[in-house]
Amino acid sequence: MLALKAAREAAFSTNRPHGDAMAFEIPKDLMVSVSGVRGRVGESLNTEVIAHFAAAYGSWVRQFVTGRRPKIVLGRDSRTSGPMFARAAGAALQSVGCDVIDIGLAPTPTTLFAIRGEHADGAIVVTASHNPVQWNALKLASSDGMFLDGDQAAEMRQFLNDRPIAYAAWDVLGRVSPREDAVKRHIEAVLAIPYIDVEAIRARHFNVALDCISGAGVVLLPRILKALGCEVHGINLEPSGRFHRPPEPVAENLAELEEHVRFTHADIGMATDPDADRLSLVDESGHAIGEDFTLALATKLVLRHREGPVVTNLSTSRVLEDICQEHGITLERASVGEINVARRMEAVGAIVGGEGNGGVILPDVHLTRDSAVAAALVLQLMLETGKPLSGLVGEQRRYIIVKDKLPRDAGELAGAYATLERELDAPDVDRQDGLRLAWPADGKWLHLRASGTEPILRIIAEAPTREGAAGLVEAARQALAAQA
Ligand code: MG
Repeated sequence: MLALKAAREAAFSTNRPHGDAMAFEIPKDLMVSVSGVRGRVGESLNTEVIAHFAAAYGSWVRQFVTGRRPKIVLGRDSRTSGPMFARAAGAALQSVGCDVIDIGLAPTPTTLFAIRGEHADGAIVVTASHNPVQWNALKLASSDGMFLDGDQAAEMRQFLNDRPIAYAAWDVLGRVSPREDAVKRHIEAVLAIPYIDVEAIRARHFNVALDCISGAGVVLLPRILKALGCEVHGINLEPSGRFHRPPEPVAENLAELEEHVRFTHADIGMATDPDADRLSLVDESGHAIGEDFTLALATKLVLRHREGPVVTNLSTSRVLEDICQEHGITLERASVGEINVARRMEAVGAIVGGEGNGGVILPDVHLTRDSAVAAALVLQLMLETGKPLSGLVGEQRRYIIVKDKLPRDAGELAGAYATLERELDAPDVDRQDGLRLAWPADGKWLHLRASGTEPILRIIAEAPTREGAAGLVEAARQALAAQA
């Protein structure tokens, strides 16, 4: 027996490197970023690319695991290429000696939540999130239930080109185990949030119009809403992966849900993106209130029960800052990118955080954006305040965000930022991610940052009026033109 054990351990430790580092050519137009890889299906993205990335990811995870096979959770959204790419990713993980916990069609937050429950070493989500229907992607997470951060992603990418992928021999290939209860466990965790009063929400019988864009949210949102006693009037609840509206749940894409709220006399409308990490809301009059309000209202609820830091990114609306100020809390701002917000939340012990795009992160459940968490928090807020959504929104000062972009190479940006900082002379200056200038007394800010994928400079400004925000963008453009 001992000899057998020694042989098996040797086998685990000597997965055979397959010849040289594979000369894998990253297809043109494939977007490789911190969170994973993304491309158009059948163009830059095919099963070969998916398998190579999954094998590289599995090889990276293997380094941290000894004496057993690593275990990876695999989930996917509803895109038509999803089952095919999930099989390719699962097979590639097996091929490098990783076991696969296959949870099938599942939102990104459900997949990441399963890491802890399964004692897994990471997760792959096959989803292009809010990108159009032609796209698909892999999102990669680590054993702590969060997406890879910049350092981890850089290490992982070494296996794409520079380091040999160690393919496993016949007797140490990974195994695939299907799991049926990932959504159930996720829902149980959300309902266990200490200040969600499930019985009281159930008794209120909220009438909810729901649009899951035929994405992965269909397996999560209707179930949790029904568990909360809601009457659910759904549209786009078949997980066909064929999207009948643009996938980003921004206000201008929610006309059908707005109509549905009016038609069903719903108390609230809720819309997700295809992997259901983001949630956007429509008020009882059928007016989409803008995705910035999801995190603002969720935070408003949490601050009624908890005291502690709140974290968002540099481009999120001031409406969140106002809510924090009402409670005497300073809002912390991290670099753009979910993992940057999540890591900062972890570091400062935040009670809630997220992004202005409808992404709510609640550490009581986990450190990733979660539409089910957002839905529960907003319903609890409506219950406690007794106010309709329009009333909750009406209490807050309104702001307008204006976005723009300029072609600009990364190399020119340092000079551009210095010029702007000098020309616009703002009382608050933040240089952690591009340049953010803020005029708190006027409720205005301006954020400029380089795109991660294109040679462009993104400009975003917010002010109490459209003219004010547009004026900031124009001032930035003029200062940059003078500098160029
Ligand atoms: Mg998403």
